[in-house]
Amino acid sequence: MLVLMNVNATDEQTQAVCKRVEELGYRPHPLPGATRCAIGITGNKGAVEADSLSQMPGVAEVIAVSKPYKLVSRDMKSEDTVVRFAGSDATVGGAELALMGGPCSVESRDQIFKAAEAVAKAGARFLRGGAFKPRTSPYAFQGMGEKGLEIMAAAGKAFGLLVVTEAVDHESLALVDQYADMIQIGARNMQNFALLKLAGRASKPVLLKRGMAATLDDLLMAAEYIMSEGNYNVVLCERGIRTFADHTRNTLDVSVIPAAKKLTHLPIIVDPSHAAGKRDKVIPLARAGVAAGADGLIVEVHCDPDHALSDGAQSLYPEQFATMVDDLRRIAEVVGRTMYDPQRRESQSTSQTGKPESTVVAK
Ligand code: PEP
Ligand code: MN
Repeated sequence: MLVLMNVNATDEQTQAVCKRVEELGYRPHPLPGATRCAIGITGNKGAVEADSLSQMPGVAEVIAVSKPYKLVSRDMKSEDTVVRFAGSDATVGGAELALMGGPCSVESRDQIFKAAEAVAKAGARFLRGGAFKPRTSPYAFQGMGEKGLEIMAAAGKAFGLLVVTEAVDHESLALVDQYADMIQIGARNMQNFALLKLAGRASKPVLLKRGMAATLDDLLMAAEYIMSEGNYNVVLCERGIRTFADHTRNTLDVSVIPAAKKLTHLPIIVDPSHAAGKRDKVIPLARAGVAAGADGLIVEVHCDPDHALSDGAQSLYPEQFATMVDDLRRIAEVVGRTMYDPQRRESQSTSQTGKPESTVVAK
């Protein structure tokens, strides 16, 4: 059920409707739009008595939502969600393409600082890297844990990057929420419902990766789990799915981008690295993702990929990442998107400190 408020409804009227929804024993989810506020109602087993709500001041309409996902749906909010981050003007889902780069895993301070410097210089606004790794083999490198998060946070601060990193369980989610700017839920955990609910109670935006055998509906229902707990800052990520094709690690489902955009207001980004599995195919897939309307990219970058502890074969060299960004600038123009100019960061940090930020902080 969905309550659409009038264009000129007051905050008090919206609050009164939320209060009434609570009195009825349900949960209200006010989602302000550009022109009016919509209030999603969850927790109801059957139809909500619409009458008591439709008569309230400021209410335009009470609508039954027939789809299984409600809060993620365009019925709930017709305009695109723009995810914002405290203390930064970077966004996901706005005009600017969100560019995330960094290694698969945090391996050492030196490795992360080098990668962060390279991706920042090329124009990324987010540093990626896993401190908790969900590995197929229990004998493979499992990540540096909290120490890795500390290093990521320091590198993010040194180079003006937001940090996105994966949480794999309850314990790591609490830590990631504390150290990072965005919580990644990986493909293998996309249907870990207990973890999704916890992410829904976290304070930071969530990057939700599509499971390797998940349909678009499965992905949207997973996002609904997060939103139903009150965290409305969710970004979807297409990272390739399992098919019979064996020329790539996974098959990048570019068609899911326009399909998702039709059904949901949430942003969707592309991970060409885990789809390709090999570095020579990453850049073409990145270009395809942006051309198809993705709101951003998350790309693995390593300064010494031959010695990477995970996913070296699909990690771009920093120079390749910079080349990719140049290619994307031209595609972005065609699809009506902007890209961050890294010169802006340098002039900002120079004007604040008199010296470029990286030489001030990164010792
Ligand atoms: C990753 O981003 O390093 C990762 C493990 O991705 P996925 O969950 O998509 O496999
Ligand atoms: Mn990886």
